[in-house]
Amino acid sequence: MNARENPLSGTLLPDDQTLVAGVLAGQRRALAKAITLIESTRGDHRARAQQVLNALLPKTGNAIRVGISGVPGAGKSTFIEALGVWLIERGHRLAVLAVDPSSSISGGSILGDKTRMETLCQKEEAFIRPSPSAGSLGGVAEKTREAMLLCEAAGYDVIIVETVGVGQSETTVAGMVDLFCLLQLPNAGDDLQAIKKGIVEIADMVVINKADIDPQATAVARAQWRNALHLVRRASPHWEPPVLTVSALQKEGMADFWENVVKYRDTLTGSGEFEQKRRHQSLAWMWQLIEAGLHERFRENPGVQESLSRLSQSVEAGLTTPAAAAHALLAHLKY
Ligand code: GDP
Repeated sequence: MNARENPLSGTLLPDDQTLVAGVLAGQRRALAKAITLIESTRGDHRARAQQVLNALLPKTGNAIRVGISGVPGAGKSTFIEALGVWLIERGHRLAVLAVDPSSSISGGSILGDKTRMETLCQKEEAFIRPSPSAGSLGGVAEKTREAMLLCEAAGYDVIIVETVGVGQSETTVAGMVDLFCLLQLPNAGDDLQAIKKGIVEIADMVVINKADIDPQATAVARAQWRNALHLVRRASPHWEPPVLTVSALQKEGMADFWENVVKYRDTLTGSGEFEQKRRHQSLAWMWQLIEAGLHERFRENPGVQESLSRLSQSVEAGLTTPAAAAHALLAHLKY
């Protein structure tokens, strides 16, 4: 086996060969079908999905992956639509994916509203997919990562992963994209919140939207953001996160935004950090899946199921030490 070959590649079913060919030909229907396959929780679908991904893997990695996060109302869909149309006019093909774990918590999806990005939806060069609805943040993120690879294989050269600015989803999305961008409103309260949440550290770019409403407040917000960004340790010694101002509604600032995305890619490619970041992300992803898999195996283990509640009670009552109980429970995992 050659070190450059995939040691886990297998054979594809005839239907899946057609699916792979369709994705490679850039057919949106085939792409949507392939994403539905990877989102399925059925065991046989999971196995097929992995074969499809294996077959497509050599054709992935050619897009720039951009994460965009902002609170509801920050203007994410307006911005992505304006940017998307601007990019398509310049020959790009754009896929928009979403990570919205709120659907699994509240039963309703913040990003799932079908009326979003109406103009972009109608463009042949755009592919828009709402967040997978089932599962935890980790589960949603895993499906989105795989969907991203499928979109790349289908020839989309710009992938946007959108998320709401709540909870852990920002860190998760930052861990799957090349460039993570915070979309902010021009009011002073916002930046303080972000600093508190430790979000500034993961921003590669800050974009203050709705600059048309109050240019003076926008200038103040920009200065505050610049200060805040100076205070945190930068992810790359070669990149100082810029603070841009745009008006998504008036479609202003798109060229400036894109220029900075390209500059980021070129700068980090030059320093070797671009590929390095992707390698780290892939390995981190593998370990996350290993940990999630081990956890699941532990919970499903018959021996664990039998003794977990008894030992938990014993630990609560102070009769058994947590370490001894953990040791005894983990011993069930031995084959
Ligand atoms: P999302 O929840 O982050 O996706 O936000 P939306 O894109 O739905 O925007 C929320 C509201 O802000 C909508 O009414 C938009 O029309 C408005 N909006 C978005 N961008 C701008 C902007 O640049 N200027 C102004 N004045 N309004 C905007």
